[in-house]
Amino acid sequence: MATLVLGGAGYIGSHMVDRLREAGRKVVVVDNLMTGHRAAVPADVPFYQVDIRDKEALGQVFDQEPIDQVVHFAASSIVPESMQDPLKYFDNNVGGMISLLEVMLAHQVKQIVFSSTAATFGIPTESPITEATPQKPINPYGQSKLQMEEIMHWVEKANDLRWVAFRYFNVAGAKADGSIGEDHPVETHLVPIILQVAAGQREKIMMFGDDYQTPDGFNVRDYVHVTDLADAHILALDYLAEGNPSDQFNLGSANGYSVKQMVEAARKVTGQPIPAEVGPRRPGDPDSLVASSDKARRILGWQPTYENVEDIIKTAWTWEQKHPRGYEDR
Ligand code: UDP
Repeated sequence: MATLVLGGAGYIGSHMVDRLREAGRKVVVVDNLMTGHRAAVPADVPFYQVDIRDKEALGQVFDQEPIDQVVHFAASSIVPESMQDPLKYFDNNVGGMISLLEVMLAHQVKQIVFSSTAATFGIPTESPITEATPQKPINPYGQSKLQMEEIMHWVEKANDLRWVAFRYFNVAGAKADGSIGEDHPVETHLVPIILQVAAGQREKIMMFGDDYQTPDGFNVRDYVHVTDLADAHILALDYLAEGNPSDQFNLGSANGYSVKQMVEAARKVTGQPIPAEVGPRRPGDPDSLVASSDKARRILGWQPTYENVEDIIKTAWTWEQKHPRGYEDR
């Protein structure tokens, strides 16, 4: 049987495909290549350029491949873009989920691991955030992912679907050998932007706001290494295969770093000055998002191997140095 990775040509999806292969599992990839890269998927992995909203084309993939489990990364994920174009997020993310579940059910595939997000919590009522913290999104991206979680919840009741949702905090880093990594058509994420400054591709890093309710005034995020994140998904696939009930888990490190601390860590790792400037706040950004992942550790046995941000940044720096123009350099 095979695991279908939706969005397997994207940043997190490509690391997932890599880890599944290293674990000796059979993998099939679907990606519409809207933001993903064909070169991020090994040539011997069955690959279908399909948009998950295209039920007919997606159904044909299920007809052709022996799929028994699905990992779903095929969604739009940029907070500021979602503030400007909410309909894109509800169409691609919520619409995509409805289409996917219809096709899965039609093919009797009933196990899914789903990428949710810290953005479903909005401005959290406690820190670190736990799975019991109320979810009140403050941007369309977070709202769309919360709706996707809720859809799975109701489909479970009607159709015996079983699912695991992971609320990711800030995913960063790359495979340690630098062979795959983060390459977005328009880069908006903090770590790759800082490293583009370190590499001389950008002049400076703009730090969005210094008046947040945090110790140094810069907003705080919890950074998780992409390979550790992928490993949590493999544990979740096994958890579902063993017949365990649907559940949701936060994936973070319980350590928050401010934007300024991230810039300082990157200066240390790269040895570059990395000029930084304070700019206005970015709409839709909460002050602080830090997760407890005790539940994932307890129930899934998740043990992240990267424990500090410098080690995470180091792997992203290896990728940046080996592939200054991203996948164009492969
Ligand atoms: N950020 C920043 N400058 C940038 C990009 C991001 O100051 O050029 C900040 C952003 O405000 C947030 C953090 O870095 O506090 C992480 O943002 P990112 O877009 O990487 O991830 P998000 O938290 O939005 O998922």
